[in-house]
Amino acid sequence: MEKHVVVIYPHPDDESFGAAGTIAKFREQGVPVTYLCGTLGEMGRNMGNPTFANRETLPEIRKKELIEACKVLDMELIMLGYRDKTLEYEDRNEVAGHLKGIIEKIEPSLIITHYPEHAVHPDHNALGAAAIEAVQLIDTEKRPTVWAQAITNTHVEDLGKPDVINDVRDNFDTKMDAILCHQSQANGVIRSWNQSEGMDNDLKEEAMKRLGFESFYIWKY
Ligand SMILES: [Zn+2]
Repeated sequence: MEKHVVVIYPHPDDESFGAAGTIAKFREQGVPVTYLCGTLGEMGRNMGNPTFANRETLPEIRKKELIEACKVLDMELIMLGYRDKTLEYEDRNEVAGHLKGIIEKIEPSLIITHYPEHAVHPDHNALGAAAIEAVQLIDTEKRPTVWAQAITNTHVEDLGKPDVINDVRDNFDTKMDAILCHQSQANGVIRSWNQSEGMDNDLKEEAMKRLGFESFYIWKY
């Protein structure tokens, strides 16, 4: 059993779409989970539909949504305070040093982050790379395991079958509750499923097909 799990992603909602079912399973086992969220996603273009945010109010709104989602998932939240869409320009060593300090305090047995260069968004790639580097800076015998999440359409072709494939359909209601906390983001995503698959599709079934499994590669140092 894990001692403590630390999740490191850059945006509010990455945790809910990417790993909520896995987080819920760990919490069921009584494993503490801490989310290190890189930014507030304040540069997002999605202002809700109907529009309920503007450039000034979006950070506060996304912060509230993030706090709500962490409550649903029953995990601790640490906001890292980086600026959205600029993580790729941050000095990677500095970000890694920052993360290492937090990781050494928490002493997790497992870290979940994005797989660098296989995570679609530059912020995902940058923070994943920094997290992996942070762990590399820790003495070998104290290093937590790293699960790296690849989300490109071609990741299985590129990297092979993931090492860990969690069937999270049993925890699906919790996952959807967490996703729906991110009202400013989730509506657009869910609408796009409807448009791509036709309105007759049962939404939950469609969501389960897309989000019912969470997979990770064990990072090899
Ligand atoms: Zn993201």
